[in-house]
Amino acid sequence: MRALEDIDTVGVVGAGTMGAGIAQVAATNGYDVVMRDIETEYVERGFDSIEDSLDRFVSKDKLTEGEKDDVLDRIEGTTELSDLASCDFVVEAAVENMDIKQDIFADLDDELPEDVALATNTSTLSITTIASATDRADEVVGLHFMNPVPIMTGVEVVRGEKTDDEVVAFAHAFAEELEKETWESDDKPGFVTNRVLMPWINEGIRAYDEGVASKEDMDKGMKLGTNVPMGPLELADHIGLDICLDASQTLHEELGDRYKPAYLLKRKVDAGDLGKKTGKGFYEYD
Ligand code: NAD
Repeated sequence: MRALEDIDTVGVVGAGTMGAGIAQVAATNGYDVVMRDIETEYVERGFDSIEDSLDRFVSKDKLTEGEKDDVLDRIEGTTELSDLASCDFVVEAAVENMDIKQDIFADLDDELPEDVALATNTSTLSITTIASATDRADEVVGLHFMNPVPIMTGVEVVRGEKTDDEVVAFAHAFAEELEKETWESDDKPGFVTNRVLMPWINEGIRAYDEGVASKEDMDKGMKLGTNVPMGPLELADHIGLDICLDASQTLHEELGDRYKPAYLLKRKVDAGDLGKKTGKGFYEYD
């Protein structure tokens, strides 16, 4: 593992909601970033969302136009795995699928020098199982950023069965360099956050589907009634319904029936209504 002070270039795998956010905060905090996705259009979409987010910081006088340009200049987009070879540390934020993540980690293990630590932003999947696709399981750690990454201040550090103590300490320190606060979870399904959050979201969807309240009243009731910033349906749209379904299915497989995904969640994902990112989930978006 390379020491924190020797980290100049951070690799990010996936330029979606989370990958773009992680690339943005790393570049904002002075790191050079290589952001990789599988298609040029996905890389471009990642840059668009970074630019939109930076524009909002500029409009609130939290960043100057010059600083925005510097952040963008520090991010290199690519579809080539080999472009990650110069990275000192890599964070993976591709889709929530064990086979895909294991393939990515096996490729990273082949491509990168053996002293480069690898992190995964998985919401629910086992760090230990992802790490088993590599010959450096001691250097694989969970670094679970929250959405939207540039706004949310917390990062969950997840220790796999074989993760070295030094790598866990590095993960905390790296997140702190990105101006985040951390907490630690053992490698159990859903970790701290999604183990508790996903049943809450699914119960909200089920209750809505059973006609307990309109979607607006379901969200308003939970917001005003329990002092959370978003109700379950609004939050599910924000996270991405496909991501919620993947996370819920993992929890269901690992922990049993009380984590079964809501039927309406599956139906919406099957229909391609994935939430904000597709313009329609429980609500419609421009
Ligand atoms: P997303 O669907 O927005 O983006 C995933 C990206 O990964 C896509 O652009 C896809 O093209 C890309 N990808 C797929 N295979 C790839 C590969 N082999 N190499 C490189 N890129 C590849 O998903 P997201 O919401 O950004 O989630 C990414 C990860 O972060 C998931 O593991 C998810 O569980 C986790 N996560 C999501 C949230 C959230 O609120 N959305 C929060 C915390 C963690």
